[in-house]
Amino acid sequence: MKITEIATEGYEKVVRCDDPESGLKAFISVHDTTLGPALGGLRMWPYLSDQEALTDVNRLSRGMTYKSAVAETGLGGGKSVIIGNPKTDKSEALFQAMGAFVDSLDGLYTTAEDVGTAVEDMILVRKKTSHVTGLPREMGSSGDPSPYTALGCFLGTKACIERALGTSDFKGVRIAVQGAGHVARYLCGHFAKAGATMIVTDIVEERAQRIVDEFGATMVSPEEIYDVDCEIYCPCALGATINDDTIPRLKAKIVSGAANNQCLTVEHGDVLRERGILYAPDFVINAGGIINVSVELEQDGYNEERALTKVNNIYNAVRDIIHTADEEKMSTNRAAILFAERKLEEGRKKRAAQ
Ligand code: NAD
Repeated sequence: MKITEIATEGYEKVVRCDDPESGLKAFISVHDTTLGPALGGLRMWPYLSDQEALTDVNRLSRGMTYKSAVAETGLGGGKSVIIGNPKTDKSEALFQAMGAFVDSLDGLYTTAEDVGTAVEDMILVRKKTSHVTGLPREMGSSGDPSPYTALGCFLGTKACIERALGTSDFKGVRIAVQGAGHVARYLCGHFAKAGATMIVTDIVEERAQRIVDEFGATMVSPEEIYDVDCEIYCPCALGATINDDTIPRLKAKIVSGAANNQCLTVEHGDVLRERGILYAPDFVINAGGIINVSVELEQDGYNEERALTKVNNIYNAVRDIIHTADEEKMSTNRAAILFAERKLEEGRKKRAAQ
Protein backbone atom coordinates (compact mmCIF):
# COMPACT_ATOMS: atom_id res chain seq x y z
CA MET A 1 0.00 0.00 0.00
CA LYS A 2 1.47 3.34 -1.07
CA ILE A 3 0.31 6.45 0.81
CA THR A 4 1.28 9.83 -0.61
CA GLU A 5 0.65 13.23 0.97
CA ILE A 6 -0.66 15.99 -1.32
CA ALA A 7 0.16 19.48 -0.01
CA THR A 8 -3.08 21.47 -0.36
CA GLU A 9 -3.47 25.09 0.66
CA GLY A 10 -6.15 25.62 3.31
CA TYR A 11 -6.27 21.91 4.24
CA GLU A 12 -4.57 20.24 7.19
CA LYS A 13 -3.84 16.96 5.45
CA VAL A 14 -4.73 15.40 2.12
CA VAL A 15 -3.51 11.89 1.38
CA ARG A 16 -3.81 9.45 -1.47
CA CYS A 17 -3.66 5.67 -1.30
CA ASP A 18 -2.79 3.23 -4.07
CA ASP A 19 -3.05 -0.43 -3.21
CA PRO A 20 -2.73 -2.63 -6.31
CA GLU A 21 -3.34 -5.79 -4.26
CA SER A 22 -6.91 -4.89 -3.28
CA GLY A 23 -7.52 -2.45 -6.14
CA LEU A 24 -7.99 0.45 -3.72
CA LYS A 25 -7.44 3.93 -5.11
CA ALA A 26 -8.64 6.46 -2.54
CA PHE A 27 -8.19 9.92 -1.05
CA ILE A 28 -8.68 11.20 2.50
CA SER A 29 -9.01 14.94 3.01
CA VAL A 30 -8.79 16.49 6.46
CA HIS A 31 -9.84 20.12 6.13
CA ASP A 32 -9.84 21.54 9.65
CA THR A 33 -9.60 20.07 13.14
CA THR A 34 -9.87 23.31 15.15
CA LEU A 35 -13.13 22.18 16.75
CA GLY A 36 -12.24 18.48 17.08
CA PRO A 37 -11.05 15.43 15.14
CA ALA A 38 -12.24 15.29 11.54
CA LEU A 39 -15.28 13.17 10.80
CA GLY A 40 -16.98 12.62 7.47
CA GLY A 41 -18.29 9.82 5.30
CA LEU A 42 -16.59 7.56 2.81
CA ARG A 43 -17.95 8.00 -0.72
CA MET A 44 -17.53 5.39 -3.44
CA TRP A 45 -18.08 6.73 -6.94
CA PRO A 46 -16.84 5.95 -10.48
CA TYR A 47 -15.01 9.27 -10.84
CA LEU A 48 -13.77 9.86 -14.38
CA SER A 49 -10.34 11.02 -13.23
CA ASP A 50 -8.15 11.22 -10.12
CA GLN A 51 -8.45 15.00 -10.26
CA GLU A 52 -12.26 14.80 -10.20
CA ALA A 53 -12.10 12.60 -7.09
CA LEU A 54 -9.61 14.90 -5.40
CA THR A 55 -11.70 18.01 -6.10
CA ASP A 56 -14.78 16.26 -4.75
CA VAL A 57 -13.15 14.99 -1.56
CA ASN A 58 -11.74 18.45 -0.79
CA ARG A 59 -15.06 20.24 -1.39
CA LEU A 60 -16.87 17.68 0.74
CA SER A 61 -14.29 17.85 3.50
CA ARG A 62 -14.57 21.65 3.81
CA GLY A 63 -18.35 21.27 3.87
CA MET A 64 -17.99 18.89 6.81
CA THR A 65 -15.99 21.50 8.75
CA TYR A 66 -18.79 24.02 8.28
CA LYS A 67 -21.49 21.47 9.00
CA SER A 68 -19.98 20.38 12.28
CA ALA A 69 -19.18 23.97 13.28
CA VAL A 70 -22.81 25.12 12.88
CA ALA A 71 -24.24 21.94 14.44
CA GLU A 72 -21.77 22.21 17.34
CA THR A 73 -20.82 18.54 17.19
CA GLY A 74 -17.35 19.13 18.65
CA LEU A 75 -15.83 17.69 15.49
CA GLY A 76 -13.73 18.93 12.61
CA GLY A 77 -14.19 18.33 8.89
CA GLY A 78 -12.89 15.48 6.78
CA LYS A 79 -14.04 13.14 4.06
CA SER A 80 -12.77 10.22 2.00
CA VAL A 81 -13.50 8.83 -1.45
CA ILE A 82 -12.82 5.55 -3.18
CA ILE A 83 -12.59 5.67 -6.97
CA GLY A 84 -14.74 2.77 -8.11
CA ASN A 85 -18.17 1.60 -9.07
CA PRO A 86 -20.15 0.71 -5.93
CA LYS A 87 -22.25 -1.76 -7.93
CA THR A 88 -19.36 -3.81 -9.32
CA ASP A 89 -16.09 -3.00 -7.55
CA LYS A 90 -16.82 -3.70 -3.88
CA SER A 91 -14.88 -6.44 -2.07
CA GLU A 92 -13.87 -7.33 1.45
CA ALA A 93 -10.20 -6.71 0.56
CA LEU A 94 -11.03 -3.24 -0.77
CA PHE A 95 -12.77 -2.08 2.41
CA GLN A 96 -10.17 -3.69 4.66
CA ALA A 97 -7.48 -1.80 2.75
CA MET A 98 -9.54 1.36 3.20
CA GLY A 99 -9.65 0.62 6.93
CA ALA A 100 -5.84 0.37 7.01
CA PHE A 101 -5.63 3.67 5.08
CA VAL A 102 -7.93 5.41 7.62
CA ASP A 103 -5.91 3.88 10.46
CA SER A 104 -2.67 5.31 9.06
CA LEU A 105 -3.90 8.78 10.13
CA ASP A 106 -3.95 7.74 13.82
CA GLY A 107 -7.40 9.15 14.60
CA LEU A 108 -7.01 12.49 12.83
CA TYR A 109 -9.89 11.31 10.61
CA THR A 110 -12.86 9.08 11.45
CA THR A 111 -15.01 7.66 8.69
CA ALA A 112 -18.67 6.69 8.21
CA GLU A 113 -20.99 5.72 5.34
CA ASP A 114 -21.85 8.05 2.46
CA VAL A 115 -23.04 7.81 -1.14
CA GLY A 116 -22.07 4.42 -2.55
CA THR A 117 -21.21 2.87 0.82
CA ALA A 118 -23.37 1.28 3.49
CA VAL A 119 -23.19 -0.03 7.03
CA GLU A 120 -22.01 -3.48 5.75
CA ASP A 121 -18.96 -1.81 4.20
CA MET A 122 -18.17 -0.01 7.46
CA ILE A 123 -18.13 -3.38 9.24
CA LEU A 124 -15.31 -4.43 6.88
CA VAL A 125 -13.48 -1.11 7.42
CA ARG A 126 -13.75 -1.75 11.19
CA LYS A 127 -11.60 -4.88 10.83
CA LYS A 128 -8.57 -2.63 10.26
CA THR A 129 -9.37 0.52 12.23
CA SER A 130 -11.37 1.68 15.23
CA HIS A 131 -11.81 5.11 13.61
CA VAL A 132 -15.14 4.31 12.03
CA THR A 133 -18.67 5.24 13.10
CA GLY A 134 -22.21 4.51 11.97
CA LEU A 135 -21.84 0.76 12.60
CA PRO A 136 -24.89 -1.29 13.59
CA ARG A 137 -26.52 -0.55 16.96
CA GLU A 138 -25.71 -4.12 18.09
CA MET A 139 -22.05 -3.11 17.90
CA GLY A 140 -22.66 -0.22 20.33
CA SER A 141 -22.63 2.27 17.50
CA SER A 142 -25.18 4.78 16.21
CA GLY A 143 -26.31 2.81 13.13
CA ASP A 144 -27.44 4.20 9.78
CA PRO A 145 -27.30 8.04 9.89
CA SER A 146 -29.82 8.45 7.05
CA PRO A 147 -33.04 8.59 9.13
CA TYR A 148 -31.55 11.41 11.23
CA THR A 149 -30.37 13.30 8.17
CA ALA A 150 -33.87 12.92 6.73
CA LEU A 151 -35.53 14.16 9.92
CA GLY A 152 -33.29 17.24 9.99
CA CYS A 153 -34.07 17.92 6.33
CA PHE A 154 -37.78 17.62 6.96
CA LEU A 155 -37.66 20.05 9.89
CA GLY A 156 -35.43 22.48 7.99
CA THR A 157 -37.80 22.34 5.01
CA LYS A 158 -40.64 23.18 7.40
CA ALA A 159 -38.76 26.35 8.44
CA CYS A 160 -38.44 27.15 4.72
CA ILE A 161 -42.13 26.73 3.85
CA GLU A 162 -43.04 28.95 6.80
CA ARG A 163 -40.87 31.72 5.37
CA ALA A 164 -41.45 31.23 1.62
CA LEU A 165 -45.02 29.90 1.48
CA GLY A 166 -46.38 31.45 4.68
CA THR A 167 -47.60 28.12 6.06
CA SER A 168 -46.29 25.25 8.15
CA ASP A 169 -48.73 22.87 6.48
CA PHE A 170 -47.26 20.57 3.82
CA LYS A 171 -50.69 19.60 2.45
CA GLY A 172 -50.73 20.21 -1.29
CA VAL A 173 -47.08 21.29 -1.38
CA ARG A 174 -45.38 19.74 -4.44
CA ILE A 175 -41.84 18.52 -3.88
CA ALA A 176 -39.48 17.44 -6.70
CA VAL A 177 -37.09 14.92 -5.15
CA GLN A 178 -33.85 14.22 -7.04
CA GLY A 179 -32.29 10.91 -6.00
CA ALA A 180 -34.24 8.16 -4.29
CA GLY A 181 -31.53 6.70 -2.06
CA HIS A 182 -31.17 6.17 1.66
CA VAL A 183 -31.98 9.69 2.86
CA ALA A 184 -34.62 10.43 0.23
CA ARG A 185 -36.61 7.36 1.17
CA TYR A 186 -36.91 8.39 4.82
CA LEU A 187 -37.45 12.02 3.86
CA CYS A 188 -40.27 11.10 1.47
CA GLY A 189 -41.82 9.19 4.37
CA HIS A 190 -41.94 12.43 6.39
CA PHE A 191 -43.23 14.45 3.44
CA ALA A 192 -45.93 11.89 2.65
CA LYS A 193 -47.06 11.75 6.28
CA ALA A 194 -47.30 15.54 6.33
CA GLY A 195 -49.53 15.51 3.22
CA ALA A 196 -47.08 16.73 0.54
CA THR A 197 -47.14 15.54 -3.08
CA MET A 198 -43.87 14.15 -4.44
CA ILE A 199 -42.37 13.92 -7.90
CA VAL A 200 -39.31 11.70 -7.81
CA THR A 201 -36.42 10.64 -10.01
CA ASP A 202 -33.33 8.44 -9.81
CA ILE A 203 -30.79 7.19 -12.33
CA VAL A 204 -31.62 3.76 -10.91
CA GLU A 205 -35.29 3.52 -11.85
CA GLU A 206 -36.19 0.83 -9.28
CA ARG A 207 -35.27 3.18 -6.46
CA ALA A 208 -37.61 5.89 -7.72
CA GLN A 209 -40.25 3.22 -8.33
CA ARG A 210 -40.01 2.15 -4.68
CA ILE A 211 -40.92 5.67 -3.60
CA VAL A 212 -43.77 5.72 -6.10
CA ASP A 213 -45.07 2.45 -4.65
CA GLU A 214 -44.55 3.34 -0.99
CA PHE A 215 -45.61 6.97 -0.94
CA GLY A 216 -47.72 7.53 -4.06
CA ALA A 217 -45.13 9.77 -5.71
CA THR A 218 -45.02 10.40 -9.47
CA MET A 219 -41.86 9.46 -11.38
CA VAL A 220 -40.04 11.59 -13.94
CA SER A 221 -36.76 11.05 -15.81
CA PRO A 222 -33.54 12.38 -14.24
CA GLU A 223 -33.29 15.16 -16.84
CA GLU A 224 -36.89 16.33 -16.32
CA ILE A 225 -36.61 16.95 -12.58
CA TYR A 226 -35.43 20.59 -12.95
CA ASP A 227 -38.49 21.55 -15.02
CA VAL A 228 -41.11 20.09 -12.72
CA ASP A 229 -43.92 22.42 -11.55
CA CYS A 230 -43.40 22.42 -7.81
CA GLU A 231 -42.92 24.52 -4.70
CA ILE A 232 -39.76 22.73 -3.53
CA TYR A 233 -36.80 21.30 -5.41
CA CYS A 234 -35.25 18.73 -3.08
CA PRO A 235 -31.77 17.59 -4.17
CA CYS A 236 -30.94 14.24 -2.59
CA ALA A 237 -28.45 12.85 -5.12
CA LEU A 238 -25.04 14.42 -5.72
CA GLY A 239 -23.76 17.99 -5.45
CA ALA A 240 -23.44 20.97 -7.81
CA THR A 241 -26.96 20.64 -9.24
CA ILE A 242 -27.58 24.35 -8.58
CA ASN A 243 -25.68 25.90 -11.46
CA ASP A 244 -26.02 28.21 -14.49
CA ASP A 245 -27.86 25.56 -16.51
CA THR A 246 -30.35 24.49 -13.88
CA ILE A 247 -31.29 27.71 -12.05
CA PRO A 248 -33.21 29.23 -15.00
CA ARG A 249 -35.22 26.00 -15.28
CA LEU A 250 -36.33 25.81 -11.65
CA LYS A 251 -39.97 26.68 -10.97
CA ALA A 252 -39.66 26.05 -7.24
CA LYS A 253 -39.84 28.73 -4.54
CA ILE A 254 -37.55 26.71 -2.27
CA VAL A 255 -34.45 24.55 -2.67
CA SER A 256 -34.18 22.25 0.30
CA GLY A 257 -32.66 18.79 0.33
CA ALA A 258 -30.02 16.45 1.70
CA ALA A 259 -27.28 16.55 -0.92
CA ASN A 260 -23.90 18.02 -0.02
CA ASN A 261 -22.45 20.98 -1.95
CA GLN A 262 -25.66 21.74 -3.83
CA CYS A 263 -24.48 25.10 -5.20
CA LEU A 264 -21.70 24.75 -7.76
CA THR A 265 -20.22 28.01 -6.42
CA VAL A 266 -21.12 30.39 -3.58
CA GLU A 267 -22.36 32.84 -6.22
CA HIS A 268 -25.06 30.40 -7.27
CA GLY A 269 -26.57 30.92 -3.81
CA ASP A 270 -26.71 34.65 -4.60
CA VAL A 271 -28.44 33.95 -7.91
CA LEU A 272 -31.09 31.89 -6.11
CA ARG A 273 -31.72 34.83 -3.78
CA GLU A 274 -31.97 37.25 -6.73
CA ARG A 275 -34.55 34.95 -8.31
CA GLY A 276 -36.56 34.89 -5.07
CA ILE A 277 -35.83 31.23 -4.39
CA LEU A 278 -35.22 30.41 -0.73
CA TYR A 279 -32.27 28.09 -0.26
CA ALA A 280 -31.83 25.93 2.84
CA PRO A 281 -28.02 25.82 3.14
CA ASP A 282 -27.03 22.20 2.62
CA PHE A 283 -24.53 21.86 5.42
CA VAL A 284 -27.05 23.23 7.93
CA ILE A 285 -30.09 21.23 6.87
CA ASN A 286 -28.33 17.90 6.31
CA ALA A 287 -26.42 17.82 9.62
CA GLY A 288 -28.73 15.23 11.24
CA GLY A 289 -26.50 12.29 10.33
CA ILE A 290 -23.29 13.82 11.65
CA ILE A 291 -25.12 14.96 14.79
CA ASN A 292 -26.28 11.39 15.39
CA VAL A 293 -22.79 10.03 14.82
CA SER A 294 -21.21 12.69 17.06
CA VAL A 295 -23.37 11.55 19.97
CA GLU A 296 -21.76 8.12 19.61
CA LEU A 297 -18.39 9.75 20.27
CA GLU A 298 -19.55 11.55 23.44
CA GLN A 299 -18.16 10.31 26.76
CA ASP A 300 -21.34 8.41 27.76
CA GLY A 301 -21.68 6.74 24.36
CA TYR A 302 -24.65 6.72 22.03
CA ASN A 303 -28.06 7.81 23.27
CA GLU A 304 -30.87 8.25 20.77
CA GLU A 305 -32.82 10.73 22.87
CA ARG A 306 -29.83 13.06 23.07
CA ALA A 307 -29.31 12.71 19.34
CA LEU A 308 -32.95 13.52 18.54
CA THR A 309 -32.95 16.62 20.76
CA LYS A 310 -29.98 17.94 18.81
CA VAL A 311 -31.41 16.98 15.41
CA ASN A 312 -34.68 18.76 16.25
CA ASN A 313 -32.62 21.91 16.66
CA ILE A 314 -31.96 21.98 12.90
CA TYR A 315 -35.37 23.67 12.55
CA ASN A 316 -34.12 26.60 14.69
CA ALA A 317 -30.74 26.68 12.93
CA VAL A 318 -32.37 27.01 9.48
CA ARG A 319 -34.86 29.59 10.78
CA ASP A 320 -32.05 31.66 12.36
CA ILE A 321 -30.00 31.60 9.19
CA ILE A 322 -32.98 32.67 7.08
CA HIS A 323 -33.56 35.50 9.55
CA THR A 324 -29.91 36.63 9.45
CA ALA A 325 -29.88 36.49 5.65
CA ASP A 326 -33.04 38.66 5.55
CA GLU A 327 -31.57 41.18 8.00
CA GLU A 328 -28.19 41.36 6.30
CA LYS A 329 -29.68 41.23 2.78
CA MET A 330 -27.43 38.36 1.80
CA SER A 331 -27.99 34.84 0.52
CA THR A 332 -28.75 32.15 3.08
CA ASN A 333 -25.68 30.36 1.75
CA ARG A 334 -23.41 33.26 2.72
CA ALA A 335 -25.19 33.70 6.06
CA ALA A 336 -24.53 30.03 6.87
CA ILE A 337 -20.85 30.31 5.91
CA LEU A 338 -20.61 33.38 8.15
CA PHE A 339 -22.11 31.42 11.07
CA ALA A 340 -19.60 28.61 10.53
CA GLU A 341 -16.60 30.93 10.12
CA ARG A 342 -17.53 32.70 13.38
CA LYS A 343 -17.65 29.39 15.25
CA LEU A 344 -14.26 28.44 13.81
CA GLU A 345 -12.78 31.78 14.78
CA GLU A 346 -14.08 31.36 18.35
CA GLY A 347 -12.52 27.87 18.38
CA ARG A 348 -9.17 29.19 17.15
CA LYS A 349 -9.14 31.91 19.84
CA LYS A 350 -10.01 29.35 22.53
CA ARG A 351 -7.21 27.08 21.33
CA ALA A 352 -4.71 29.90 21.26
CA ALA A 353 -5.65 30.90 24.82
CA GLN A 354 -5.07 27.38 26.19
P1 NAD B 1 -27.55 7.22 -1.71
O1 NAD B 1 -26.38 6.77 -2.50
O2 NAD B 1 -28.30 6.22 -0.92
O3 NAD B 1 -28.60 7.95 -2.67
C1 NAD B 1 -28.25 8.79 -3.72
C2 NAD B 1 -29.17 8.44 -4.88
O4 NAD B 1 -29.02 9.42 -5.90
C3 NAD B 1 -28.86 7.09 -5.51
O5 NAD B 1 -30.03 6.31 -5.54
C4 NAD B 1 -28.38 7.45 -6.92
O6 NAD B 1 -28.74 6.49 -7.89
C5 NAD B 1 -29.11 8.77 -7.15
N1 NAD B 1 -28.50 9.64 -8.16
C6 NAD B 1 -27.20 9.90 -8.40
N2 NAD B 1 -27.08 10.80 -9.41
C7 NAD B 1 -28.34 11.09 -9.81
C8 NAD B 1 -28.89 11.96 -10.78
N3 NAD B 1 -28.10 12.69 -11.58
N4 NAD B 1 -30.22 12.03 -10.91
C9 NAD B 1 -31.03 11.29 -10.12
N5 NAD B 1 -30.58 10.46 -9.16
C10 NAD B 1 -29.25 10.35 -9.01
O7 NAD B 1 -27.04 8.42 -0.80
P2 NAD B 1 -27.72 9.05 0.49
O8 NAD B 1 -27.02 8.51 1.66
O9 NAD B 1 -29.19 8.97 0.40
O10 NAD B 1 -27.25 10.56 0.33
C11 NAD B 1 -27.89 11.44 -0.59
C12 NAD B 1 -27.20 12.80 -0.54
O11 NAD B 1 -27.27 13.33 0.79
C13 NAD B 1 -25.70 12.77 -0.88
O12 NAD B 1 -25.32 13.96 -1.52
C14 NAD B 1 -25.04 12.70 0.49
O13 NAD B 1 -23.72 13.21 0.47
C15 NAD B 1 -25.96 13.58 1.28
N6 NAD B 1 -25.94 13.31 2.70
C16 NAD B 1 -26.25 12.07 3.17
C17 NAD B 1 -26.24 11.83 4.54
C18 NAD B 1 -26.62 10.50 5.13
O14 NAD B 1 -26.91 10.44 6.33
N7 NAD B 1 -26.68 9.43 4.33
C19 NAD B 1 -25.89 12.87 5.42
C20 NAD B 1 -25.61 14.13 4.90
C21 NAD B 1 -25.63 14.34 3.54
